[in-house]
Amino acid sequence: MPQRTIRFWLTCLVIGCVLPATLGSAFLFTISYQQQRTILERNTIATARALMQAIDAELFGAQSALQVLAGSQRLASGDLASFSRQASEALPNMGGNYIAITDSTGQQLLNTLKPLGELLPQVPPSAKARRVFENGQPVISDFFVAPDIGQSAITLEVPVFSSGKVVYSLAMGIFADRLADILRRQNLPPDWITAVLDGSGTIAARSQQAERYVGEKGSASFLRRSAALSEGVTETVSLEGVPTLSAFNRSPRSGWAVAIGIPKTTLTGNLWRSLGFNAAVTLALLALSIWMARAIGMRITRSIRSLHAPALALGMPGLLSIPQNEIAEVDDVARALMKASEMIRERAIEREQGELATQKMVVAKQIADRASRAKSEFLASMSHELRTPLHAISGFAQLLCQPDNNLVREKRIRYKDNIMESSTQLGKIIDDVLDMASFESGHVNVNCEVLDCLEVMTEVSSTLEVSAKKRRILFTADTSGNLPSIIADRGRLIEVLLNLGSNAIKYNIDGGWVLLTAVPYDDVVRFIVRDTGKGIPAERHPEIFEPFNRLGVELTQEEGAGIGLTICRRLVQAMDGNIGFESTVGYGSKFWVDLPVANETAAKAARAPSLFAMPSDTRCKVLYIEDKIPNVELMRAIIEDLSNTRFIDAQTVAEGLKVARSLRPDIVITDIHLPDGNGFDVLRELRGDDRTAQIPVIALTADAMAANMHNMQLAGFDHILTKPLKIPELMNILHASLKAA
Ligand code: ADP
Repeated sequence: MPQRTIRFWLTCLVIGCVLPATLGSAFLFTISYQQQRTILERNTIATARALMQAIDAELFGAQSALQVLAGSQRLASGDLASFSRQASEALPNMGGNYIAITDSTGQQLLNTLKPLGELLPQVPPSAKARRVFENGQPVISDFFVAPDIGQSAITLEVPVFSSGKVVYSLAMGIFADRLADILRRQNLPPDWITAVLDGSGTIAARSQQAERYVGEKGSASFLRRSAALSEGVTETVSLEGVPTLSAFNRSPRSGWAVAIGIPKTTLTGNLWRSLGFNAAVTLALLALSIWMARAIGMRITRSIRSLHAPALALGMPGLLSIPQNEIAEVDDVARALMKASEMIRERAIEREQGELATQKMVVAKQIADRASRAKSEFLASMSHELRTPLHAISGFAQLLCQPDNNLVREKRIRYKDNIMESSTQLGKIIDDVLDMASFESGHVNVNCEVLDCLEVMTEVSSTLEVSAKKRRILFTADTSGNLPSIIADRGRLIEVLLNLGSNAIKYNIDGGWVLLTAVPYDDVVRFIVRDTGKGIPAERHPEIFEPFNRLGVELTQEEGAGIGLTICRRLVQAMDGNIGFESTVGYGSKFWVDLPVANETAAKAARAPSLFAMPSDTRCKVLYIEDKIPNVELMRAIIEDLSNTRFIDAQTVAEGLKVARSLRPDIVITDIHLPDGNGFDVLRELRGDDRTAQIPVIALTADAMAANMHNMQLAGFDHILTKPLKIPELMNILHASLKAA
């Protein structure tokens, strides 16, 4: 089905309304025209009849007067001279032009137009004229041209009796212009053609072009159609060639007829004028209506089109807002769209929530599966873990218990040491598992007290140094600083640091580094264990604190149950601390533990003045911001050789700035490329802070390109050193700077 616009349908509606009304009014006009025409025909016939009667009255009145005159004594006595006078006097009242007396031979004896005694013509009488003598009846002649007078005329002829015989015919001549006067007196419309025709159909008088057509025969078609009728209406063409509607009336007495021709243009003019006016008004109305329909159509279209964009936007996120529409129905649709948008949004939210719930369920299931898998693996590895020390204990115990045992003393001591070491290991495993079990049931026993950080670090270092040595790992602990006391459970903190330290050793590479440091931040002390080991893949970071999850190392020779970090986190959280890590594959890992600083009163109370009172640290502080441990260790070795100097290191820009603001070092040495920014950031931030703006900053860079050096100079570093480091150069700078400090 072809598609049409609203404007098209509105135009059709207008045409559909206007056209029938127009056709109806045209029909009514036609009917009214027919009725008017019938009335006009009737009226015209009546007019023709009245006209005929007027002419008849004129003619027969004159005829009666003529008959009276025919009985005149003067005529009977043959006194023609006296009769001629009498006739001439009566003539104006009778409406004639002349009076003549003719005998049966056609000889005129008297003619009032001629002087008496003049020789008058003899005209053979016409058949009608003869009837006067033969029947003694009056006659009205047809129209003729009087030969002696040369004028068109008719005559009324009456017999003149003498002794019962017709002796003369007394005739009165009436000229054509007298008949024309009768027509003129009727005051008919000027375009109507009125004609008086004698008994032979000759035109005796005519309202138009009389001089041309009077004396001529009427139009043949009219004569033919009207011949047999006394009156009627016929459509003919006038002698001038004008189509007319002709009404006629014929006098039964004289045989004369009156015809009134109304030009068809006059007749139909009104109709056409009315129809034309009707058509013009209709067309104007139609044009106006179509224009209005199109204007309204455009408005409706605009309103409907305004919903187009919102309808398309239904599929987009967010709620629809459609301004009020001037068309109520369109506004209803707009409201419906907004409702639909609301419903779609609700459905989307429900769906999202459903999807989220499903995802959560999937994740929960994955975690549960993994936990279950890990638990199974844990049981397997636990059995292995327990059996390994048990095997050693049982084996060495058997060796010691052999009856014929004559072992040398050193061997016996070594066997005993092995048994002791294995049983310690076994005890540790069992403690871990019990810890884990008690955490699972929600019990974490910690006894927090005020602790000296360096003392804890020293104890941890002594244990880790031994195991690091066995694995050929370089272990360093920075216990030279002056750290505030913290609130923590001593045993649990040592357990945590040992766990982190032994992981750093276990998952390290041959000849790698492990570094244990601590820095004070605002209201915490951060313990940091860094290594140059294999690192942990980023995608496994989220799993690191999951119990029994060994991130794939269960396939290697490394011993472990995958619960060390879980226990660490629970313990740290129980001590109101925080634990976190950063790790990059092939680069190493850094685990940190933040524990709250003890307030001064508690710290003082906890310290035994004689044993633990420590003078405030008056050494110069050198902060080195560098992420590569070997570089840090080199710098530590250099700085620690200087007397009265304390070395502090930080791995990132953020960490370095935090330490600088908190400890206010006397000098800052920074690497240029750092994990979270660069040395320029360090310089800018230090200079921008009142607390650190005055601290000299040395840039230590491996990029000795002229452009880089130039940039660093522009940036405002106090000194710029390049790698490999020239130690004497650094020493000079440090001596100068620290002396000034
Ligand atoms: P495990 O008994 O396996 O050492 P942990 O809970 O202590 O259990 O550690 C969980 C896992 O985290 C380890 O199995 C290891 O894959 C990874 N991990 C822990 N510390 C480090 C580190 N310093 N370097 C690399 N991987 C580590």
